[in-house]
Amino acid sequence: MRALQKKFYIETFGCQMNVFDSERIIYIMEKEGYVRTSDPECSEIILINTCSVREKAENKLFGHIGNLKSLKIKKPGLLICIGGCTAQNKSAEIINKFPYVDIVFGTANINKLPDLISERLLKNRSVCDTGDFPETFDYLYDFKRQYSFKALLPIMIGCNNYCSYCIVPFVRGRERSAGFDQIIKTAEKLAGEGVVEITLLGQNVNSYGQDLKTGHENFAKLLSEISQIKALKRIRFMTSHPGDFNEDIIDVISENNNIMNHVHLPLQAGSDRILKKMNRHYTSADFKKIYYMIKEKIPDCAVTTDIIVGFPEEKEEDFLKTLKLVKELRFNRAFTFIYSTRKGTSAELLEDSVSADTKRLWFRNLLELQNKISLEENMKLVGKKLKVLVEGYSLKNNQLEGRLENNLIVNFRGDEEMIGKFIKLKITDAKSFYLKGKISE
Ligand code: SF4
Repeated sequence: MRALQKKFYIETFGCQMNVFDSERIIYIMEKEGYVRTSDPECSEIILINTCSVREKAENKLFGHIGNLKSLKIKKPGLLICIGGCTAQNKSAEIINKFPYVDIVFGTANINKLPDLISERLLKNRSVCDTGDFPETFDYLYDFKRQYSFKALLPIMIGCNNYCSYCIVPFVRGRERSAGFDQIIKTAEKLAGEGVVEITLLGQNVNSYGQDLKTGHENFAKLLSEISQIKALKRIRFMTSHPGDFNEDIIDVISENNNIMNHVHLPLQAGSDRILKKMNRHYTSADFKKIYYMIKEKIPDCAVTTDIIVGFPEEKEEDFLKTLKLVKELRFNRAFTFIYSTRKGTSAELLEDSVSADTKRLWFRNLLELQNKISLEENMKLVGKKLKVLVEGYSLKNNQLEGRLENNLIVNFRGDEEMIGKFIKLKITDAKSFYLKGKISE
């Protein structure tokens, strides 16, 4: 059944993979004749693309779905559709808790959405389909991008690492790599359409190709091949895993100017005891070895990281090791999180022994230290003339925002027609999380 000019509203939570999935949802809905709206009250279909990485975010999300009940009472014909990782993981719970939810769909069957909507309209009951993980990637590359000048390109889906705190392998499945030629062809097509920046996506891009069993396809080779597409001026990738990051990847980055000098390398903890409990497959010494190899071969490479504080059985001496490592390595930015138990993960079996007060104290100490380091590193750029790719307007003020090679955002005054173009800026001020600049000759 094809709906005419019905409006849909979409909200996205979580990581870049979810952002990409939402682009596909928007494409599929528009292809079916639906029109996107930014006002949920005006829509006939509400789609929520959920994230389940953190329990707190999931609880907030359940509160959010609860709030939609009043809208459903006001507009009984409204369809509420819940997709993404939480839908994949907790479909039965969602249907039981929120019987007014119409459709629950998983991460693997976004392309079935129009059929699920038709099914819901024909049958007077909720529809739930979390499906099997598909074997091919063809469906992934059939989509319209949100931006004309930059694109996300998944190269693999799923994860085999089973970090003890993480739900991703359970909601995205085991690692499946897209075919090497298929990725190159898609990257060439995007470049031909005017895309200048591409971000290769995967839960652990560094292990790309390991499941293809050809024995000669790996991430370094893929990155090198994509960098030969000269119309692509900026190539990024995320996320990396320190256990799989290697010298070949570093060499490819250092040899090709269109691969950005930025690596996001999640440390998670500075204590080997805690890293082992997290099932991270590396020690702090392994992490340092990779970090210093990056800095030696690419001295101006920005390194950002993720850190969890208050992991089960973490003691003060463990936390102090994290602080010491942060002081030594001076990450450009760290995304810091307070640990909370994630149901269904193996860390759930460990005693959540660190008190809430201690977690908050450690979090504050770490944040204070990292903010200081980020600000000091960012201040080094003040006075320099640097190139940004202008991405759009800042949500905070009426200024444009552009992204530097090292992934930092610069706010500046400029014209709308600069969006999608490279502009040279003089950096005039620095904050911990962004810079200010003005247009330079
Ligand atoms: S590497 Fe670990 S943290 Fe990252 S997605 Fe895989 S299991 Fe989760």
